[in-house]
Amino acid sequence: MTRPRRNALAVKVGRVTVGGTAPIVVQSMTNTDTADIEGTAQQIKALARAGSELVRITVNEAEAAAAVAKIRDRLAQMGVSVPLIGDFHFNGHKLLREYPDCAEALAKYRINPGNVGRGSKRDPQFAEMIEFACQYGKPVRIGVNWGSLDQDLLTRMMDENNSRATPMSAQEIMREAVVASALQSAAKAVELGLPRERIILSAKVSGVQDLIAIYRRLGERCDWPLHLGLTEAGMGSKGIVASTAGMSVLLQDGIGDTIRVSLTPEPGGDRTNEVIVAQEILQTMGLRSFIPMVVACPGCGRTTSTYFQELAQSIQGHIRHRMPEWRKSYEGVEDMTVAVMGCVVNGPGESKHANIGISLPGTGERPVAPVYIDGEKGPTLKGERIAEEFQELVEQYVARKFTRKEAAPREEIPA
Ligand code: SF4
Repeated sequence: MTRPRRNALAVKVGRVTVGGTAPIVVQSMTNTDTADIEGTAQQIKALARAGSELVRITVNEAEAAAAVAKIRDRLAQMGVSVPLIGDFHFNGHKLLREYPDCAEALAKYRINPGNVGRGSKRDPQFAEMIEFACQYGKPVRIGVNWGSLDQDLLTRMMDENNSRATPMSAQEIMREAVVASALQSAAKAVELGLPRERIILSAKVSGVQDLIAIYRRLGERCDWPLHLGLTEAGMGSKGIVASTAGMSVLLQDGIGDTIRVSLTPEPGGDRTNEVIVAQEILQTMGLRSFIPMVVACPGCGRTTSTYFQELAQSIQGHIRHRMPEWRKSYEGVEDMTVAVMGCVVNGPGESKHANIGISLPGTGERPVAPVYIDGEKGPTLKGERIAEEFQELVEQYVARKFTRKEAAPREEIPA
């Protein structure tokens, strides 16, 4: 059992609620040049179509700021209304001042307090960004990143620590400084007039134990919604495992109102993977349902051909492809489980626990594939078209089992 969610404030980010009793929100970030309007709009559309409920874009220079409202318009033309978050750094105050249509088009501003300006420029530049958030009625995420931690704050805390009789370790001070930077910046924003229910906090680090320690402290010390994510998680399985290890411990503690999995894509890789992994973390933990789960056995000496892996992959692909359409028409289809098992020895048992399951013939077994539907023996498939026939059975099951909604809601993501 997961612990109950901590009682965070509810913050509206466009049409999406983060915190309160809202479901944990999945977000992602583009890696296109924001000045490339068409490229960025297409990637946002792909991320939204994959299930990203908020999408962050870099607003790092004048050309990017000038593109934001045009990206918003292009998305509207394509029927995509996912809220956009602007990621600002040193020149954010200037860009928001000079590009009011950018300030208006964004649903939230992400401000890194360690990167808003150095020395005497820091406070006025931070204040100016908060004033724009007040003026345009936007929420902000105070997003601390340990790689760009406020050096003045860290130095001050290190000095104080050194004068103690029993100083804490440098790692402990770093963790405390990350927490302090987030909380002090949020308090400053409130002082400047930003309503408390327009603030979300994050504190990204790249170590799993640091992440857990820091977010537990934030969870204890404030009621702002928390955006979870491990920064520089890495590529492939390393990034997925590190993000899952850190975030699932926190989610289990009821900490985290929105998540992002920061995966480094393979060259030419698909950016939407980060959305799929975030959804899978939440779904496997039983916190949200997004898409039917395919339960597949790992295979063993009984599965000597690749047919079993190919069927598992093709049914997973089919479900993901069909989901935008199913979501519009079928209530609760995201809770369905489909089992694809590699032999008829152990396969039927697992298939019976799924909504619909198939057991393929293992090595040396009769070339037939029994299907179980709602725990009962269904048709037995054989021959060359097992994959296609099983897909058809899944389609029929979905149409029969899940209530067709009266009318499809206006869907912002075209299939
Ligand atoms: S279900 Fe069958 S094929 Fe799959 S791992 Fe178990 S014994 Fe092997």
